[in-house]
Amino acid sequence: MIRTVKLALLPAEVLQPGLIHTQLAALLGTTTQQISGYRIRKRSLDARHRSVRVVLTLDAYIDEPVIPEQTSRYEFQVLPSKAPRVVIVGAGPAGLFAALQLIQLGIRPILLERGKDVRSRRRDLAAMNKEGLVNPDSNYCFGEGGAGTYSDGKLYTRSQKRGNLERILTLFVQFGASPDILIDAHPHIGTNKLPGIISAMREAIMEAGGEVHFETRLNDLLVENGEIKEAICENNKSFCADAFIFATGHSARDIFHLFHRKGIRIESKPFALGVRVEHPQEIIDQAQYHCIQYRDPLLPPAAYSWVEQVDQRGVFSFCMCPGGIIAPASTAPGEIVVNGWSPSKRNNPYANSGIVVSIDPADCTAFKKLGPLSALAFQEDVERKAFVAGGGELKAPAARLIDFCSGKISTNLPDCSYLPGIVSADLKQVLPKLVHDRLQEAFRRTGKKMKGYYSREAVVVATESRTSSPVRIPRDRDTLQHPELSNLFPCGEGAGYAGGIISAAMDGERVALAIATHLTNS
Ligand SMILES: Cc1cc2nc3c(=O)[nH]c(=O)nc-3n(C[C@H](O)[C@H](O)[C@H](O)COP(=O)(O)OP(=O)(O)OC[C@H]3O[C@@H](n4cnc5c(N)ncnc54)[C@H](O)[C@@H]3O)c2cc1C
Repeated sequence: MIRTVKLALLPAEVLQPGLIHTQLAALLGTTTQQISGYRIRKRSLDARHRSVRVVLTLDAYIDEPVIPEQTSRYEFQVLPSKAPRVVIVGAGPAGLFAALQLIQLGIRPILLERGKDVRSRRRDLAAMNKEGLVNPDSNYCFGEGGAGTYSDGKLYTRSQKRGNLERILTLFVQFGASPDILIDAHPHIGTNKLPGIISAMREAIMEAGGEVHFETRLNDLLVENGEIKEAICENNKSFCADAFIFATGHSARDIFHLFHRKGIRIESKPFALGVRVEHPQEIIDQAQYHCIQYRDPLLPPAAYSWVEQVDQRGVFSFCMCPGGIIAPASTAPGEIVVNGWSPSKRNNPYANSGIVVSIDPADCTAFKKLGPLSALAFQEDVERKAFVAGGGELKAPAARLIDFCSGKISTNLPDCSYLPGIVSADLKQVLPKLVHDRLQEAFRRTGKKMKGYYSREAVVVATESRTSSPVRIPRDRDTLQHPELSNLFPCGEGAGYAGGIISAAMDGERVALAIATHLTNS
């Protein structure tokens, strides 16, 4: 017999030999001999009480042998020479998972990526961090693996219904992620592990006969009779295909401008904008784990998430990185964008999180004349002001949290993980009033709820502006085709259908399945 049960144990108890066995027997009213083994299905933390517990959901095997775990493996067979061809613009999670799914459907993916392969990309990231130089085709957002590669690699999503989450996680494991991600309630991979996983995906795509073209930025489209005929790239290469997936991410402003110029319908959409706040990790550990100074070393660095409604607007934490680093996520010179990442061990001394305010296209009236690009222009304007306030070289304007909340310019700043450096500045001059004032209020409220959060040691860094796309590329709900171009399939975060690695990957798979149906019917 197999019984599924939950155990809540102290972190040290989890490691104590034989303890889980004994606890299972006691819980199930059997002898320890009758418990032939168990398998952990889910693992989470319960930090609501003074002593933090590890909550395990287990399958206990009673009077029967434990069946060895069969981890699924997906095969990627070599494609026949006459396989239909699909161009995928963008090799982020959406593009890569679309490519893998297409191969399984017998369709050849041709990936066009403006950036470099995952390893060569590193040099450009170093130039950003050390010299404040931005390569507009190779940065934290652009390049193989997309924006998700040099990230925290958090793999949770609120949109589980939109795809097969288990398949996505299993594929990550197949390409090199730890099997722990299959059981952890809040799985994450870490910046150090992601590049190897992304390269392994690319190798599988190429071995099956897919194509991957780096440093191949799409610049133009040949459109005729309601269809894309050719994708035209910077290096004078052009690509024909049966269908075209656009998975170019939320930072590909040139793509939004190209569509607008060519009269291909796009729409402005709500997004979110704010700052990144950084605390010493101990402060967050103390607040979340109720410890006096240091957390139990068996516990991971603590995370948090919060949401407040201020003046009828959502203010919320976003992409929290325990033990992380604040990254320069600008994609063009002259703008400051910050985001966060962490290594798999999350062992940096700081905890950072985006704290953002929902923005509606109606807030962007100053840019109304730009039509569907108005929200994008609003976002761009804040990023440029942040650059000016930072004084150049990717230095980011910042303030101590308590100074920010009382509207003061900080006389000095605490240490911060943002490598290009932070500069004390008046963030009122950078952030729109509707964002600035709501952030102040939301921070004050959170400070009352989370002990230690409202701290002199915490620093607010502007600006966290690329939380989601300010533009949507519309598509039919069922066929996923663009309403005007029958072989155009908008996909992933940039098109407005995902927010995060997992949901982008799931959207890539959905689009691939929709294309298979489209090709069968046409
Ligand atoms: C620093 C950082 C940390 C993050 N941390 C996390 C996290 O921990 N967890 C999480 O879920 N999400 C995280 N995110 C967000 C996540 O990375 C994105 O949600 C996700 O990558 C979106 O996937 P996508 O495939 O839709 O687009 P993207 O990943 O943005 O990929 C788009 C790709 O298209 C390419 N491209 C753009 N224009 C062109 C063109 N004209 N021609 C050819 N190629 C083009 C780009 O180079 C890029 O590779 C993070 C993002 C950043 C920047």
